Amino acid sequence: MIRLFDVSLPEAVQGGLEAAVLETLRTGQFVLGERVARFEAEFAAYTDAAHAVGVGSGMDALVLSLRALGVGPGDEVIVPALSFYASAEAVLQVGAEPVLVDVEPDTLNLSVAAAEAAVTRRTKAVMPVHLYGCPADMLAVAELARSHGLKVIEDAAQASGATSDGRPLGSLSDACCYSFYPTKNLGAAGDGGMVTTPHGSVAEQVRLLRVHGTTRPFYHEAVGYTSRLDALQAALLSVKLPHLDGWNARRRALARRYDAALADLPIRVIRQLEGVYHLYVVRVPERDMVTRDLNQAGVEARVYYPHALPDLPPLKGKAHGDCREARAAAREVLALPMHPNLRDDEVDHVAQALAHTLKVLG
Ligand SMILES: *Cc1c(COP(=O)(O)O)cnc(C)c1O
Repeated sequence: MIRLFDVSLPEAVQGGLEAAVLETLRTGQFVLGERVARFEAEFAAYTDAAHAVGVGSGMDALVLSLRALGVGPGDEVIVPALSFYASAEAVLQVGAEPVLVDVEPDTLNLSVAAAEAAVTRRTKAVMPVHLYGCPADMLAVAELARSHGLKVIEDAAQASGATSDGRPLGSLSDACCYSFYPTKNLGAAGDGGMVTTPHGSVAEQVRLLRVHGTTRPFYHEAVGYTSRLDALQAALLSVKLPHLDGWNARRRALARRYDAALADLPIRVIRQLEGVYHLYVVRVPERDMVTRDLNQAGVEARVYYPHALPDLPPLKGKAHGDCREARAAAREVLALPMHPNLRDDEVDHVAQALAHTLKVLG
């Protein structure tokens, strides 16, 4: 089976991870502490961010950022109608209203025109999602935010290492949220997340919220969370971070090979100009039959995401407009195997299997 994801690592990196685990175990400090502070500094430097705060997951990065920016009951937050559920779930968690807007058909990222049309007096923030590792148009998002006085929270869970207009993600927003879930481009051996921000006040709020609203021992200023990055994950991520650009470059090279191999097929490819190809996604007719045939041909292909967000029960009635592109995409998208260990001949095999399937289906 050619797998969709493969988190195994080269022997040298694996050895480094094992050494880091042992070393951290021997320190006896397992939550926050020096290892976490070190990784936060490394991640801030890597993303050119003024501040980076490690938290328990990507979802928590979103929730704590929203809280830190003062988003809560009575506020609306504009979210693209095609994403992983957590983007909108985080808005519901803080008691605000997600307003789901349509996406661009070529990138499947937030349509800034649709977002503009959805702005009301209650709109407090907009949350571009860098879906599949493809950066949203941050210059346009920043301009929209500036003209309406909105906060910008980036969901970069799938886009560690990506740039937008040559700048690292997080350069044009109030908070940028990452996930280190094991299959993400920069993955831990468990859950983890990060918030980067240009604002010292936001970093301070997230630091406070991640430990029960604590500002000094046993003094609690806010209703917070237990959402800390643990030292073992931070130690592992410190070992992996220097390899991220190389792994992302390999993903891009594989994507170019897929692009060439699939060029003559009657399908659409989601191209990522500055993206990091967390997923390589195509839009195919008869998607469910194609998926089944590929799986039978030894290719693991999977749908991200089979439901547009407004079609999930907690988000019913939250759409602005008909979200036609997001709903069409949910019927057509299919992710093909993509990870740094994938071989060129495996890409060729996947492309041939897809060509064969489409020909049989006519
Ligand atoms: C993975 C993901 C999240 C949530 O990250 P967790 O670490 O699993 O909580 C949020 N948004 C998007 C787009 C994701 O892909």
